[in-house]
Amino acid sequence: MLKLEKVFPGVWKYKDTLLTRNLVPGVKGFGSEMVAVEGVEYRMWNPYRSKLAAGIMNGLKKFPFKEGSKVLYLGSAEGTTISHVSDIVGLSGTVLGVDVSAKAMNKFLYWCEQRPNILPVLGDANQPESYKKDVKSVKVSLLYQDIAQKNQAEIFAKNARAFLGKKKKALLVVKADSIDAVRPSLEVIGEEIKRLEGCFDILQVISLEPFEKNHALVFCARK
Ligand code: SAM
Repeated sequence: MLKLEKVFPGVWKYKDTLLTRNLVPGVKGFGSEMVAVEGVEYRMWNPYRSKLAAGIMNGLKKFPFKEGSKVLYLGSAEGTTISHVSDIVGLSGTVLGVDVSAKAMNKFLYWCEQRPNILPVLGDANQPESYKKDVKSVKVSLLYQDIAQKNQAEIFAKNARAFLGKKKKALLVVKADSIDAVRPSLEVIGEEIKRLEGCFDILQVISLEPFEKNHALVFCARK
């Protein structure tokens, strides 16, 4: 029988593979590989396809997601990472997934149909006021952003000011190449983190190599 190690609430590891418990047993999401242990279904969480999983593999010390978390997730794309966040926060939690791409949203809706704790928002994260009415029904306890834009830190701070209470936790994926693909990525990432300091205390910065080149995961708390 497989022996699982509990890494964080809602996250397990078998050898080098991260796992989350399938919120909807019997329903296999696209791209998901499953494993059953003692009659419980787990979904394999691939750090090459999810920067949050890459951050865990690379030593994220505290995990701010838990059962019941109300997550505002900017850059939901097709829902790969969100589907695992949905497993972790469970039916008492909520994940609001915002994305500007109607094409990505089409695939994302597949997850929303299977999982009542995911709510889709087609919107531009640069303009948080445009989806204020969608967020109003959810008391956001955690902000997560993975958006490939030049002004990543600015978008993150704007949304934190609009929706995240003081001291609440937030995670930002910084993609250096979207800001400046010529200068050394460490320099670009360092400058982007500096831009966060007015709004956040920085708790941990994790390089996502070798899973993602020139990316960092920044864990912070709203000031
Ligand atoms: N977080 C996803 C995951 O792990 O499954 C991958 C996110 S993908 C790298 C970046 C996403 O950001 C794309 O789907 C893109 O459409 C979205 N995006 C880019 N600019 C945006 C904006 N201004 N507002 C909302 N979403 C945006």
